[in-house]
Order: sequence, then structure tokens, then C-alpha cells
Amino acid sequence: MTRPLRILVVGAGIGGLSAASALARIGARVDVIDDKPEISVAGVGFGLRINGLRAVREIGLLEKVLQIGHTAPGIDNYDAEGNLLSTMSYGTQDEGLPGCVTMSRIAFLELAARHALDNGCTFRMSTTVADIQQHDDTATVTFSGGDSADYDLVLGFDGLHSQIRRDYFGEKHAPRPVGGVAWRVGLPNRRRIMQPIICQGYGGKIMLTPLSEDTMYMVLTVAEEGRPRYDASRMAEIMHDRAATLTRGSEFLADALDDVRHAENVAYTPYSTVWVPYPWFRGRVMIMGDAAHTMTPYLGSGAAMSIEDGVVLAQELARNDAVLDAQLDFMKRRLPRVRAVHDRSIESMLEEFDSVTDETYRARIDHLRHDEPIANEYANRLLRMPY
Ligand SMILES: Cc1cc2nc3c(=O)[nH]c(=O)nc-3n(C[C@H](O)[C@H](O)[C@H](O)COP(=O)(O)OP(=O)(O)OC[C@H]3O[C@@H](n4cnc5c(N)ncnc54)[C@H](O)[C@@H]3O)c2cc1C
Repeated sequence: MTRPLRILVVGAGIGGLSAASALARIGARVDVIDDKPEISVAGVGFGLRINGLRAVREIGLLEKVLQIGHTAPGIDNYDAEGNLLSTMSYGTQDEGLPGCVTMSRIAFLELAARHALDNGCTFRMSTTVADIQQHDDTATVTFSGGDSADYDLVLGFDGLHSQIRRDYFGEKHAPRPVGGVAWRVGLPNRRRIMQPIICQGYGGKIMLTPLSEDTMYMVLTVAEEGRPRYDASRMAEIMHDRAATLTRGSEFLADALDDVRHAENVAYTPYSTVWVPYPWFRGRVMIMGDAAHTMTPYLGSGAAMSIEDGVVLAQELARNDAVLDAQLDFMKRRLPRVRAVHDRSIESMLEEFDSVTDETYRARIDHLRHDEPIANEYANRLLRMPY
């Protein structure tokens, strides 16, 4: 094709913004839309391990990510009383990259949006797709504002509840609840922790992740069925009580739990997964990131996999003359890799929840002491495989 590819990215989240830069850097003309009025996100922080770090390096964002992030070599596992069970490494410092960088979600999004603008992408917020008409080699998109434009590719990076997935791939791929929830909140880093701490409780865990010397975030994950509606004014109190139940009143994280009680902006996220089987495209419409493959956060890799998607698609579009060839080669590379990470993320979660009774809790503690470092090393190697 002699003219630049015209690509619409639907969704200015972690994956969409990264894909926009990846595609603009191979010469595509990229428009990004999002139905929110401005870049924003639920949840405080997230981590990028080697898979995500390699991918942000590929789009020229690594240096800035290292500037806004906090580097952590591994994770310390504790029991509910605060006894250290094991320390898990995030892996060897492959290719000069740190094992894991944790950072503020909004800081990453702002960085990635600025980077996409610098790479020549255009943005329209408060905008979604009203209709897509597919022709032989283009897709005509009508926007929610009523205007329309032609694209060579439309990429649905619109997350767990993807409208593009629903409209073009069908209701049968709707999110499936997996029986766990996350309570998330930003807190002061009073203990000056330098790497994440996991406290295994009865039926779930509390994870503290440093963002800097002064700030950290807490993620509490616990088995919880259904989708209860909580009173928004009581979220901090409920999160505190959940945490106290998990630790059975232990003093170990009592200071952090006390901070939770007074915290604002507690985010509550029931875990659901999505797996759309081959292919993630219908003509010129594709889905990527969480829209195609939402996993649980147990390998800390949903965002990384979304970023990898955009990088791999850009590589394949640069290598192939025909869009269809690029789509097929993209699928060939992405399906086995994403499936393996997706499945392992679910297995890890189920292993953790099976710890409610005294007996299963003791078995879980034993596992964390002896077997989890090996399971973690498997995850390291999985994530380190080339994408
Ligand atoms: C508790 C928790 C912890 C996690 N921790 C990590 C971690 O440490 N590391 C990691 O790699 N991953 C982590 N993840 C997973 C990660 O957050 C997701 O995989 C990642 O955000 C997916 O990126 P995305 O761009 O595909 O989707 P999203 O980030 O969900 O972005 C979707 C975007 O699309 C927009 N949108 C939605 N609908 C429309 C529409 N109809 N029209 C236009 N725009 C629309 C939204 O406004 C949003 O901006 C975690 C997830 C959870 C729940």
C-alpha cells in the first residue's frame, strides 16, 4: 500500500494508547477515541514485568516509565501473622530491564497519551462508535457525534465490557465472573516498603505495592460471589473489615488497615475474564487487550499483554503488504502466548482462594513456603518468552 494506513483505536486505556504510538511509529495515521470526557482510570497503580517493559521499550516509552515508576526486584510472601514465608524474584534482569516497575495508573496513561500525541496521533474524547460499515478493504465508521470516516483497520481496545466485541463478535463472549473481587486503595507508605508484600489471609490476600518511598497501594483480593451493591460512602469501612477478617485481627498490617479506614477512592472490582477464540478480527474490525482476553491480575500481566498486542500488530503490519496477512500472522503469534498467560492467571487465583478453613489455610501457607517460588519461576519464564 502506498498511502499510510488509516487506523482507528477505540479506547484510550493502557493498551489503546500504547498501540496508537506503536502504529504511528510505523507510519500509520492513527485516530484515538474514548467515550470518557478525559483520560481517567479506576485503581491506583499497576506493575509492568519483563513482558510489559520490553513492549514499552519497543514504542520508545521505557525511559519515561522508569522515571515515573518504582523498581522492585521481587515480592515477599507472609502469613497472616507476619511470618516471612518466601521471597519471589521477578526474574533475572534480562536485557538490562528491571524485574518489575510499579507505577501510578493515571501517570502512565498521561505519559502514554502525550507520547501518542507526539507521535502524531489525534484524539477525540466523549466519542464512541455508532456504526461500522465494512467494504472490501475499508471500514466506514460513523461516530456518536454523527460524522464518519474511512479506516483500513478499526481496533477495539475498549476493555472488559467492549462494545466492539459485543457488536461484532457476539454476546456469547460476554465477561464471565470468576468468583473473586479486588478492593483497591492508595495509602501512605509508612513502612517504607521497597518491594511488594503479600499477606496470605484466610480465603484471600492483601498485597501492598510501593509506588514511591512515600506512597503505596493496597489490593485486597477475596472470593466473593454475586455482584453486591455497596453503599459508596462506606467503601473504606467495608474494605477495612474485609481485610481484618482475612487476617483474623492480626497486628501484622494493622497500621495499613487503619489507614484504609480513613482512605478515599476505594475501588471495588469483581473479577471477570474474557476469552475470545480465534480470530480476533471480523474483516477490518479487530479486538485486542482486555476486549479480547481479560485475565485475572494474578500474573500482573493483563496490561502488559494489551501493550504487547499493539506492538506485535505494528510489527506485522510493517512486515506484510496485505492487512489480512498481518492479521493472520498477528493471531499466530498472539493466540498461544496470551492463552498460556490467561489460563495460568486463573489457576493462580483459584489456588489462593482455597484457604478459608484452618486446614486449607495451613496447606496454602505450606505451598507459599515451598512451592510458590517454583510456580513463580514458571511464570517468570512464561512472561520472558519472546512475543
Ligand atoms: C485489581 C487489578 C490489578 C491489576 N494489576 C495489573 C498489573 O499489575 N499489571 C498488569 O499488566 N495488568 C494488571 N491488571 C490488568 C490491567 O489493568 C488490564 O489488563 C488493562 O487495563 C487492559 O488494558 P486495555 O487498554 O485493554 O483496557 P482498559 O484499560 O479497560 O481500557 C479501555 C478503554 O476503553 C474505553 N472505552 C470503553 N468502552 C468504550 C466505548 N464504547 N467507546 C470508546 N471507548 C470506550 C474506556 O474508557 C477505557 O479508556 C490489573 C487488573 C485489576 C482489575
